[in-house]
Amino acid sequence: MQDWPCHTKEYSVARLKELSMQRLLIHHAKQVVKVCENGELVLCGEQTKTVSLLDSKDGETGYSLVVNEKGAIEAIGSDIEIKKRFSDGCFTKEIDASGKCVLPGLIDGHTHPVWLGDRVHEFAMKLAGATYMDIHKMGGGIHFTVQHVEDATEDELYDALLKRLHAMLRCGTTTIEAKSGYGLDAKNEIKMLRVLTRAQKEFPMIEISSTYCGAHAIPRGKTMEEATDDIVNNQIPTIKKLMDQGQLLVDNIDVFCEKGVFDTEASRQILEAGKKIGLHINFHGDELHPMKSGELGALLNARAISHLEEVSDAGVVAMADKCVTAVLLPTTAYILKLKPPPARQLIEQGVPVALGSDFNPNAFCYSMPVVMHMACCILRMSMTESLIGATLNAAASIGLSKTHGSLEVGKQADILIIDAPKWEHLIYQFAGHDQLIDYVIKRGDVVYSKTPI
Ligand SMILES: [Zn+2]
Repeated sequence: MQDWPCHTKEYSVARLKELSMQRLLIHHAKQVVKVCENGELVLCGEQTKTVSLLDSKDGETGYSLVVNEKGAIEAIGSDIEIKKRFSDGCFTKEIDASGKCVLPGLIDGHTHPVWLGDRVHEFAMKLAGATYMDIHKMGGGIHFTVQHVEDATEDELYDALLKRLHAMLRCGTTTIEAKSGYGLDAKNEIKMLRVLTRAQKEFPMIEISSTYCGAHAIPRGKTMEEATDDIVNNQIPTIKKLMDQGQLLVDNIDVFCEKGVFDTEASRQILEAGKKIGLHINFHGDELHPMKSGELGALLNARAISHLEEVSDAGVVAMADKCVTAVLLPTTAYILKLKPPPARQLIEQGVPVALGSDFNPNAFCYSMPVVMHMACCILRMSMTESLIGATLNAAASIGLSKTHGSLEVGKQADILIIDAPKWEHLIYQFAGHDQLIDYVIKRGDVVYSKTPI
């Protein structure tokens, strides 16, 4: 067992069985931020102006939340109501949240967490003025990481992934979308997907919605047509076979729809081939050049499109019409000095907006509180919109909003407790969130706490 430098628990099958015996009470909270309360699956437009919350204004009334033995939220209400309803005191664990805020666990809608070989040297190049595509053409960028992934064993990649998941957990993240995409051929893409599948089975502290992203770049020595043919006629059928055999867990299909990478027509072919084997469409679109990705995503009934810095007006309308979630990644615009995506236009025109860290060797950011802060300052989103983007709408982007993304009775108890009297501190204290986050709770179990558990 590795000795992690934080107070997280190591899990095992036995540990999971033990968890099923627990019943948790969180009491005397200053605020319980439910986000929504009528089972909404996504929030858009006007609905994102406020979040549903219980707030103790007098400082005396406190609020409680009860988690049942199955890790689901059983009740939320005032301390008095909950005390009356659960008068037998049948709790295996109690947390005193006096003066604190209780929020849903954060959901990161876009990550690339499986790789070796950092790219800190490229950061210096970017500071000196090199663009993403300049670095790409010099053999850096994705191709640098592809080489390191090819040279790595599955165990080495898994160890690197676990370290990153622990870091994300400490920042309050309880669920992520995670992509392959540094393999580019069948052997190495499957290696990456095996690593993600293993984490899904062995590391339940962060849930993973896993995405096959074999079309992340054109492999060296191949044309776009050859790469598309390999993905559609070789990689996807092989992945389907392994999914059917229970060897791989894959949820989504992704493509980098971009000028000089996969054009709109090749992207359509790849996404449709993935959809045919049951994967949900969730892809990179309209990042560096306008590619009509918004329109393509709406046409294919995509669940989500990430980036959208260059989305067209018609693409925004089409996405709103089909309720395709926009996953905005403020770290990318910040690091690559791109024009930020039109968050205000997307929100005002009714597109559901989610947030992601885009964690990858280019954007080394584990922290959703930092991403939420950047969404406010760079994308001009409100704190409420950012919170919704990092909870319910991020859950919607990976099809989990029936069970995740808000604090409502019946939903999975993925919870954050922060040591502040107002939830907005999570965004406001953006470089201090490690001091602010007291507890991270997954399925009703404390998986991280600031003080030893
Ligand atoms: Zn990405």
